[in-house]
Amino acid sequence: MTSTRKRIYQEEFLNYGFTQIEDKGIMKPQCVVCLKVLTAESFKKSQLKKHLNNLHPHLSSKPREYFVNLEMSVKKQRLNSNLRSTFNQCSASKASFEVAWLIARNKKPHTIGEQLVKPAALKMAEIMCGQKEAAKLNSVPLSAKAVKERISILAENVREQVISSIKEINALLFSLMKLQMSVVIRS
Ligand SMILES: [Zn+2]
Repeated sequence: MTSTRKRIYQEEFLNYGFTQIEDKGIMKPQCVVCLKVLTAESFKKSQLKKHLNNLHPHLSSKPREYFVNLEMSVKKQRLNSNLRSTFNQCSASKASFEVAWLIARNKKPHTIGEQLVKPAALKMAEIMCGQKEAAKLNSVPLSAKAVKERISILAENVREQVISSIKEINALLFSLMKLQMSVVIRS
């Protein structure tokens, strides 16, 4: 009977140090100690217990509360990294709009974004701030196609477009912050 049942996460798996994580739409067990993600087929007490005993033997007799705390910090980290990546995407999009606006205002060709603006910004950032910081600028969409699209959006309805995208971004950031706060308060 158990063999035909679909393997899903059970609360008691946390006793062996396992929470679950979504990977391309599939839930998989994740160790809260080493963060290793096992296959979906590993939602089995014996396999999870084996991981704990073999890889983290010094923790095998820890009480559930110990893993509850670790799980909370793993979830907080996930939320932080989601928040950071959403924030970076929003910032890159905003920067792209700002540059497109400058290009349009100065009546320069759309290609100037990828041909001059981006390489120049990357060089300056690399020299002034370092390679890691400069790499962030690579995510700003500045291809001729992106610049053209943004200019036409700006031209179509400058005020409405900007206000609604700022509202959307703000609403998204606000809900993410609220979610993060609730995790922080619970931990
Ligand atoms: Zn582990």
